Amino acid sequence: MRHVAIVGSGPAGYYTAEALQKVPDVAVDVIDRLPVPYGLIRTGVAPDHQSIKAVSRRYEGVALTDNVRFVGHVSIGTDVSIEELTRLYDAVVLATGAPHDRALGIEGADRPGVIGSAAFVGWYNGHPDFADLAPPLDAPGVVVIGNGNVALDVARILAKTPEEFAGSDIVAHAREALAQSGVRHIHILGRRGPHQIAMTPKELGELGHLERASPRVDPADLPPESDDAMLEPGMRKSVTHLRGFAANPVAKPLTIDFDFFAMPVAIEGDGKDGAVTRVIVEKTTLDADLRSRGTGETYAIDAGLVISCIGYQTPPIAGVPYEHGRGRFANDEGRILPGLYCVGWARRGPTGTIGTNKPDGVRIAELILEDIPHSRGRVGRAGLDRLLASRGIAPVTFRDWRRIEAAEARAAINGAPREKFVRIEEMLAAIGR
Ligand code: NAP
Repeated sequence: MRHVAIVGSGPAGYYTAEALQKVPDVAVDVIDRLPVPYGLIRTGVAPDHQSIKAVSRRYEGVALTDNVRFVGHVSIGTDVSIEELTRLYDAVVLATGAPHDRALGIEGADRPGVIGSAAFVGWYNGHPDFADLAPPLDAPGVVVIGNGNVALDVARILAKTPEEFAGSDIVAHAREALAQSGVRHIHILGRRGPHQIAMTPKELGELGHLERASPRVDPADLPPESDDAMLEPGMRKSVTHLRGFAANPVAKPLTIDFDFFAMPVAIEGDGKDGAVTRVIVEKTTLDADLRSRGTGETYAIDAGLVISCIGYQTPPIAGVPYEHGRGRFANDEGRILPGLYCVGWARRGPTGTIGTNKPDGVRIAELILEDIPHSRGRVGRAGLDRLLASRGIAPVTFRDWRRIEAAEARAAINGAPREKFVRIEEMLAAIGR
């Protein structure tokens, strides 16, 4: 038997397991620090995008095959070291994603009320790390920094009415806080222009159908319409949405302003404990290679909450080569060191959709099978079980997870698919621990 440990049970982890599971002499352990599987599908994909979350059924199919096992609530680096894991398994694959926010790096970025999208998204999606975030939602102004799909998710969630969350699995603490929210003006800051956005058409189009919120674009920011012809079709559709928002401003109680050519340069605060009260923004222009350049002209936006949605990075692991500039493991097509691999965002950085991880998983499985054509006599899962038992650690199995899942489904209200547990203790209590 060839033994493979995959660290991380998100899309990259399960697509890798799916590709390996087809090989009869391979046994796969998918290890996660949380007692619940699916990574970004559970805690990243927006709660009102249930059709995207449905891909977890496919991962469940993989998890239920004989040669794949879920080992939940085991933290690699704390409960078991990477060195121990690489001694036990023929191959270790880091599918740990990119759960940390890239730093904003401007004056005032550490003020209360300035948070990263990993924290905010984790909060409304029930990630146990962010259950106590309590983002300040009382002031009317919010600044969302970045022009990617995460900025759209964040703005949409802030703008929706309680009724618009029907059928979603937004967690109770977020549902209740958002229902009381005083937010009325959301500014999405892009340091470049409408032709440089990283927003996909479906997600952008959703902003045009919100009950109480209307997106606004300054027509002066749009390039001549004839320039759209040089865009690839998806981008052209996105820009068409922006043109629609500019041409048809609709009066609604909540506004979502797209501030293009707008670079945040400082965050000021005279709120409690220096909490943010305004963001200083510098107008930009684009230079010949389409990079933004400050013009020196600034303006201020009043805000009690700032959410930076400027991309993510993979946390380094001691002893594992790391590429600091790109925030991911140093790797050659997924190979880090002999027997150690990475896949998904941990390999390529935080780009692409859920589906992008499928070919990534297939490729890394091929590399592993090529590098390790035969068993090398590693003990694999039996050795891990012995090690965990010797440390008094009882992993959460896939069967346990299904009990947690059933309890979440039972707790659901108003047509929601589930009411998630947001604390590890609650998850464990559901399986009698
Ligand atoms: P992203 O697509 O890389 O967008 C990051 C944005 O932040 C860019 O507009 C970038 O501008 C801007 N930015 C970076 N550094 C900045 C700085 N220092 N100051 C101001 N702006 C800065 O990242 P993301 O939105 O986090 O999304 C990550 C991935 O997940 C993407 O592939 C995305 O499509 C995917 N995703 C998909 C969905 C969906 O399909 N529904 C939902 C969420 C996320 P520049 O271009 O100027 O660098």
